[in-house]
Amino acid sequence: LGSGVSVEGDEATVEDDADGLLGGLDIETTEEIEVPDRLVDQVIGQDHARDIVKKAAKQRRHVMMIGSPGTGKSMLAKAMSQLLPKEDLQDVLVYHNPDDGNEPKVRTVPAGKGEQIVDAHKEEARKRNQMRSFLMWIIIIAIIGYALFFARSILLGILAAGIVFLVFRYLNRGSDAMIPNLLVNNANQQVAPFEDATGAHAGALLGDVRHDPFQSGGMETPSHDRVEAGAIHKANKGVLFIDEMNTLDIRSQQKLMTAIQEGEFSITGQSERSSGAMVQTEPVPTDFIMVAAGNLDAMENMHPALRSRIKGYGYEVYMDDTIEDEPEMRRKYARFVAQEVEKDGRLPHFTEEAVEEIILEAQRRSGRKEHLTLKLRDLGGLVRVAGDIARAEDKEFTEREDVLQAKRRSRSIEQQLADNYIERRKDYELTVSDGSVVGRVNGLAVMGEDSGIVMPVMAEVTPSQGPGEVIATGKLQEIAEEAVQNVSAIIKKFSDEDISEKDIHIQFVQSYEGVEGDSASVTVATAVISALENIPIEQDVAMTGSLSVRGDVLPVGGVTHKIEAAAKSGIDRIIIPAANEQDVMIEDEYKDQIEIIPVQHLSEVLEVALAGEPEKDSLVDRLRSITGKALDRQVGP
Ligand code: ADP
Repeated sequence: LGSGVSVEGDEATVEDDADGLLGGLDIETTEEIEVPDRLVDQVIGQDHARDIVKKAAKQRRHVMMIGSPGTGKSMLAKAMSQLLPKEDLQDVLVYHNPDDGNEPKVRTVPAGKGEQIVDAHKEEARKRNQMRSFLMWIIIIAIIGYALFFARSILLGILAAGIVFLVFRYLNRGSDAMIPNLLVNNANQQVAPFEDATGAHAGALLGDVRHDPFQSGGMETPSHDRVEAGAIHKANKGVLFIDEMNTLDIRSQQKLMTAIQEGEFSITGQSERSSGAMVQTEPVPTDFIMVAAGNLDAMENMHPALRSRIKGYGYEVYMDDTIEDEPEMRRKYARFVAQEVEKDGRLPHFTEEAVEEIILEAQRRSGRKEHLTLKLRDLGGLVRVAGDIARAEDKEFTEREDVLQAKRRSRSIEQQLADNYIERRKDYELTVSDGSVVGRVNGLAVMGEDSGIVMPVMAEVTPSQGPGEVIATGKLQEIAEEAVQNVSAIIKKFSDEDISEKDIHIQFVQSYEGVEGDSASVTVATAVISALENIPIEQDVAMTGSLSVRGDVLPVGGVTHKIEAAAKSGIDRIIIPAANEQDVMIEDEYKDQIEIIPVQHLSEVLEVALAGEPEKDSLVDRLRSITGKALDRQVGP
């Protein structure tokens, strides 16, 4: 130990079993893993984006990054600033303009020079003031002496001395006003600047001139001293990063575009009624590389001219959400844990088992077979919560159980809400998980991104006065109609009932805003068939799946979360589309609680879900016989 362990391809440290959760990495704790210095080397996955960033830094091109939050966009933008030459950095000074006090002059000098110039001015002003003070005291003493000796009036002496004092103060202030304002100071900058202007208001982005409450009478602050740099000026020779570009108001976007085009931008007061609005500096350099980020939506709502500007003079790159789960990648995820621990600075390093648990979570959160999630901000959050738990207990290292506890704690708002619903429904016994009921099916829905919820569906079929209608409660009308339409073709063939002459009422029990229902069509179909044929449905079963017109059960999203929600609600069995079997990554604690039944066809769903032997068997048989072709195609001979 002691010496650093290299993550990439260091033979000595890689065990034989590259199949292990750590991809063969042989460590006891993450302390042994070396974290690369450069940010660009710390980025995990996103190879494409990383290449682009390297290339764009070399060519000084703008970049647009599109992708989910927390996948490394700002990290890459920052990494880009580290790749830019530091030699080019400049300081910017603003000087009083004796010809026009409202148009301060702007001068650019090499980085580090700015401070020297200001210091020199200060020193000069100090000397001048010293000289003046000296002169002033001599005059004051002379006046008082004169007044006492000749006029014999101390009052007259003090009055005269006071006037002299004020005159000199005014002169000193005048010489202070000659000191330039160091607007941008890069003296201590080790790398090119990185400015994050996400959500910045106009002043913070474009610069501002402060209001002066005393606009005259010798009390005013000279205008050049009230000038403040915006992110576009601070980012000069570096990187300006803006996430969620579309939230920037259109006027600011237009001005941003001007700054990009001209490479310089004057500073003026941003609030119209302030005295700062009268001031406008000479142009201040804004020679930055723009990295604009956001999701697809943000890009579409961005000012078209600005977008085409970036596009025309740069690159657009899409960020990955997941990456293939390979031994090398797992070793990098171990390094990720080390990176996050070191970045935080206070967390205990992780033991091997604790890292394994993080990698399992990365698999689970990817929602795809043999993939790891790249939403690493959230995963980093888990690392921090786990580390904090260990730290609170004064542990030397963060252990597996800390990670497990952190997982329970660091649930998203949606998950917490969903759990809350599950609890409350149990109280009111809204989730029925035993017995059998006609027309009622335990469906499943996804809430937010990462939590499932049991959403029962009830169907009732009544004779219609006119043409049959599908009547659903709430926003799920469309889904209900589509599901009924899909199932009606099948029903027509095997049932004597003509559903086009019936009203079908569908109720999504306790559905609420934010629930996605596109995966409910198998549920709706099952409820309708049960109601139509008057055959009860087992309530210890929950189901999810989409339905084709031929009765094929098609894959849906969020299966893992749905299964976990069903298990938490006390459901014993869950029907999922066979095509989703590979996406199941439920946590160990649920594995014994629930039986997962993958199906390919609606007839299989009914076989599992319907109760009451004779009716059910005949129904399933009929369904099989009419849709046999579809089944053959899927199952094979
Ligand atoms: P975004 O800008 O895409 O919302 P960030 O770059 O701000 O995401 O990521 C937040 C944090 O998450 C980073 O500081 C880093 O700790 C971690 N992170 C995100 N993506 C990656 C990645 N691809 N590799 C390593 N760490 C990452």
